Amino acid sequence: MDRKRAKKLLTEQLAELDEREGWARGDGGEQVPDQGAVSQHPADYGSDLANEMERELMVQTISRERQQIMDALQRIEDGTYGRCSVDGEPIDDARLEARPEAEMCLPHQEEAERHGQR
Ligand SMILES: [Zn+2]
Repeated sequence: MDRKRAKKLLTEQLAELDEREGWARGDGGEQVPDQGAVSQHPADYGSDLANEMERELMVQTISRERQQIMDALQRIEDGTYGRCSVDGEPIDDARLEARPEAEMCLPHQEEAERHGQR
């Protein structure tokens, strides 16, 4: 894959992450519940808590994805972008098109995921 194209895709992904992170952190969406009012509304508390955990999880996912994208941008600078980090083989263009932050070819990625890395 062309470095310019890869950089563009990654930059677009970063912008999308910023948007999702804004939502996950509650900017411009529903308000994060006021802790002081919690005890009076036990039923609400349950769903707010679930909501909050979901947001928290999303923030974590986003920061992990952001890290992967930053790493990929670094690899573009280093000239190692588009190669599998395990065996150094070129990664499919189709795969990079779908996941420009990919750092492994599909077989190695699947192997890594089987070992519990999500
Ligand atoms: Zn590989």
